[in-house]
Amino acid sequence: MTQAIANQTKTNATFRALKCKECGAEYELQAMHVCEYCFGPLEVAYDYSALRDTVTRESIQKGPHSIWRYRPFLPVATDNPIDVGTGLTPLVRANRLARRLGLKKLYIKNDAVNMPTLSFKDRVVSVALTRARELGFTTVSCASTGNLANSTAAIAAHAGLDCCVFIPADLEAGKVLGTLIYSPTVMAVQGNYDQVNRLCSEVANTYGWGFVNINLRPYYSEGSKTLGYEVAEQLGWELPDHVVAPLASGSLFTKIYKGFQEFTEVGLVEGKHVRFSGAQADGCSPIAQAYRDGKDFIKPVKPSTIAKSIAIGNPADGVYALDIARKTNGNIESVSDPEIIEGIKLLAETEGIFTETAGGTTIAVLKKLVEAGKIDPEETTVAYITGNGLKTQEAVQGYAGEPLTIEPKLDSFERALERSRTLERLDWQQVLV
Ligand SMILES: *Cc1c(COP(=O)(O)O)cnc(C)c1O
Ligand SMILES: [Zn+2]
Repeated sequence: MTQAIANQTKTNATFRALKCKECGAEYELQAMHVCEYCFGPLEVAYDYSALRDTVTRESIQKGPHSIWRYRPFLPVATDNPIDVGTGLTPLVRANRLARRLGLKKLYIKNDAVNMPTLSFKDRVVSVALTRARELGFTTVSCASTGNLANSTAAIAAHAGLDCCVFIPADLEAGKVLGTLIYSPTVMAVQGNYDQVNRLCSEVANTYGWGFVNINLRPYYSEGSKTLGYEVAEQLGWELPDHVVAPLASGSLFTKIYKGFQEFTEVGLVEGKHVRFSGAQADGCSPIAQAYRDGKDFIKPVKPSTIAKSIAIGNPADGVYALDIARKTNGNIESVSDPEIIEGIKLLAETEGIFTETAGGTTIAVLKKLVEAGKIDPEETTVAYITGNGLKTQEAVQGYAGEPLTIEPKLDSFERALERSRTLERLDWQQVLV
């Protein structure tokens, strides 16, 4: 891979090495994710003094309307990244939801409308595929719980890369179709995500493909930092007091933290103690369990929950997520499947945002933490909504009511309206008694 060597050394890049999170050993910027000495995960290291000297709020604001406005903080050398409009999603002031929960200043970071495939995974894949191209890969792949396959297939199609993705065979119809439509090769594996992931590790070793979340994982995961940068920029170059985000592998959670740290380090925002709280589903809550038990290791579980997109039983970054929740005085909580459905409905009814099961988990955990007094009403709180409800319709089928079927006549309409108002009154009386 001589092209890789040529690319990694060129230009004004501020990323300088892969560094082991455990022992600190450094490696060349290649397609590699595990330390050869201690098997710890590798992370991209940057030259922060160069960043401090070159990046300003103004230089960022003059950049593209996408995650690529933060390119100096991302592990790619090219000035011409794959830009499909990913990122810069709305940060919505959620007053009605805040009132319902008893908070004063709540925001929703709405990646349910991220481009191009309506989940936060478009961020990590835009970065991973740009890096894959730089490293000379022509075929890209992933082990996915659904959204990652959607993103990888779509962005590979845009970039003209060959694509083969691996998913568990029992995914929601919207997630499967939302991958197939881009015509990648799709392997539906008869097993859970952790089995899919194990298979993919073997394939990655023998096929020379760029697996965005395996051999390209150090680059891929950096894409999630943009969820931190954007919130800081959208709050007027300030950090919030408290964030609540979902946990699957734990990567997203740790990278929001890294994003805040980096902006502080280079002087783009003032340093602040931000509390980090994580959300899991009861049916797959290995990190929440370790948190509750006061353990600093994660015991893998077999997932069983409607929140399939975050159903990772053996989370690669779980211990780092635990550490961040603890040292920031945050929390990690889990909620049941019925609470997840309630969370989806609550966000829809109060804010007009239809999220998938991962977002329902985040809202339900947010509610649980407020009720337990673990989020102060005065805190500026940001809840990260990471995916779109149209992709997991099965989860709320039968819980959202039915339309009123009427004849195309005014009196039929009026009778139906009267009926629905009576039902509403009855509903309210039930609430009151
Ligand atoms: C993948 C995913 C997550 C969490 O990702 P990790 O970085 O593995 O923790 C959260 N929400 C949605 C919708 C996802 O698809
Ligand atoms: Zn190491």
